[in-house]
Amino acid sequence: MYYGFDMGGTKIEFGAFDVQRNRLMQKRVPTPRDDYEALLEVFTRLTQEADAELGVMGKVGIGIPGMPDAESGALFTANVPSAMGKPLAADLAKRLGRPVKVENDANCFALSEAWDDSLMGYPSVLGIILGTGVGGGLIINGRPFSGRHHIAGEFGHLRLPVDALDRLGSDIPRVHCGCGHDGCLENYISGRGFEWLYQHFYQESLKAQTIIERYRAQDSLAVEHVERFIDVLALCLANILTVFDPHAVVLGGGLSNFDEMYALLPERIQPHLLSVARVPPIEKARWGDSGGVRGAAFLNFGV
Ligand SMILES: [Zn+2]
Repeated sequence: MYYGFDMGGTKIEFGAFDVQRNRLMQKRVPTPRDDYEALLEVFTRLTQEADAELGVMGKVGIGIPGMPDAESGALFTANVPSAMGKPLAADLAKRLGRPVKVENDANCFALSEAWDDSLMGYPSVLGIILGTGVGGGLIINGRPFSGRHHIAGEFGHLRLPVDALDRLGSDIPRVHCGCGHDGCLENYISGRGFEWLYQHFYQESLKAQTIIERYRAQDSLAVEHVERFIDVLALCLANILTVFDPHAVVLGGGLSNFDEMYALLPERIQPHLLSVARVPPIEKARWGDSGGVRGAAFLNFGV
């Protein structure tokens, strides 16, 4: 049995899955934001309740908005102050009497999608989240490649490529990023970036959904904006594809619901790839909000 926890800033979601990936249990509780002992107690109680109900000792995986330190295991997770700097995996392993895996939640998202029936045939799957920011992860043979510091797949903090300047204008502001650098591409190609670019070019602050509705109504500014945005997204994705050469790509996050993107992207990515490369299938995420808890549970698949 495989237990997954998706730890967010306000809630912790729990799911128990069998080896066929059927979800047998589901629970959602508030995150103890300021009390680490209370946080440990939530994980312990939910795990023990599931053990008792299912009559097994399930394997435990946790997805977090952040990452554990490569050496100490101390978490960096700004949205959950109670867990910040705490060795959550080691402390829980002691309480639960079993190993506990902790992984960045974007990697859990990608892992969940890679274990969908439609993508399981691919040796490698690249998951990219176009949400408030841009994150993602690379799954190789059903396992996440997290890198030394659990930051593999943090594409959002690559800086804008030079050909984006050709499309956006070389005077495009280098937006200051939460990571401390300027010009990270998540400030331009995320859902937030989609809105920021519209405001930058047309001095009007609109929600992404409104811009998309105007695009569908053939509003000339919205069409121009989307054309420009898709070009920039395509060349950013082309760079990422050139690094990883994945067999399939899955897009998640709010902007992944902009369905017209999937027809437009392949032809615009292709010119930016090496000549021997072809654009892989690019699909929309299938698991939505439950991806985090599924992926956390599947951290222990094959372990
Ligand atoms: Zn950044």
